[in-house]
Amino acid sequence: MHGYQHTTVSLTATSITCGALILAGYAETALALGAGLAFGTLLVTPDLDLQRNDARRRWGKMRFIWAPYAALSRHRGMSHTYLVGPTIRLAYLALWAAPLVWGAQHLQITPTLPSWNHMTIAVIGYFLAQWLHLLCDGIMPLDRSHHTRR
Ligand SMILES: [Zn+2]
Repeated sequence: MHGYQHTTVSLTATSITCGALILAGYAETALALGAGLAFGTLLVTPDLDLQRNDARRRWGKMRFIWAPYAALSRHRGMSHTYLVGPTIRLAYLALWAAPLVWGAQHLQITPTLPSWNHMTIAVIGYFLAQWLHLLCDGIMPLDRSHHTRR
């Protein structure tokens, strides 16, 4: 599946899910879930293992941070797994963010962070976006054969 197809499928699913949540009266949940889904659809996707892809382009001047990740990843290898891949990408991003967080604390800048509830829901949204991507790539959960497929 092409990058734009992944984006279309995922943003459609995001709109339907968040729309339904808003209609059901869970606007805050919809916002947190939507933020996680959009983050996992537009910025941090399994296809960051490619040198050229839409998500990496969207990072603009910051796109260089994904170069080492792409260099170390085989396309559709570890990056296209259900738990390890998405977790590694978050940890990888945290490595880049750590100096910023340290700097902000050093300068006594304390941004207002979303609540733990909302952060958890956003992380769930992020994982759902990763899983939808894998399903669209034809990779099923617990399917180990894709490691040999190209
Ligand atoms: Zn993919």
